[in-house]
Amino acid sequence: MSHRILIIEDDPQIRRTVDIACQAHGYATDVAGDGAEGLAKAQKGSADLIILDIGLPRMDGLELCRNLRQSHQTPIIFLTARNDEIDRVLGLELGGDDYVSKPFSPRELLARIAAVLRRGAQGQSDDALRIGGLTLHLGRHAADFNGTPIDLTRREMGILMTLARRPQQVFPRPALVDQVYGIGTDVSDRTLDSHLRNLRAKLVAAGCTDGIETLHGIGLRIGACRGA
Ligand code: CA
Repeated sequence: MSHRILIIEDDPQIRRTVDIACQAHGYATDVAGDGAEGLAKAQKGSADLIILDIGLPRMDGLELCRNLRQSHQTPIIFLTARNDEIDRVLGLELGGDDYVSKPFSPRELLARIAAVLRRGAQGQSDDALRIGGLTLHLGRHAADFNGTPIDLTRREMGILMTLARRPQQVFPRPALVDQVYGIGTDVSDRTLDSHLRNLRAKLVAAGCTDGIETLHGIGLRIGACRGA
């Protein structure tokens, strides 16, 4: 049985391009041109995956997502047009979801669709990020180190996920603040330090003594997370 994809996009040309690409790939499709219509169709629950533009009339994509998540867990691939939209999408702490930035090629989008559908078919087991002994359960805002649960606040989880998603990358503090708290948010050094201190203490308490590396004067990076 072919998967059904709901495309919610107000730009007729992009909507049509995505629709044609999906159909050519063998997916059944449904389309909506604004947020209210999109939410109504999404709530029917017949779609296996939703392609969701952020900038939409009558209800933007993020609000649609918030509404839909109260009752449905249909995976979503967001279409983002601007950097600040990407940050807001990342702020959702995506579980099985993903995003594609405009402009994108139909081929790139189809690859993401296939990956998200594949993850869904494997159940929730893949909905986790692993670094050494540290596991971040993305959908549940939960973490553990070698099986020991770590109780994290939303901000602490945000910091850890931001670092863990790009394990090679060193995040200067302002970049980390933008990712975790939202771009342009005025977060004092003290606030970030206090969240980092609490986060480190919780990691260490669970045995993860090398969870976060500080490169002085440069920034922060996820550690090897192998423990002592
Ligand atoms: Ca739009």
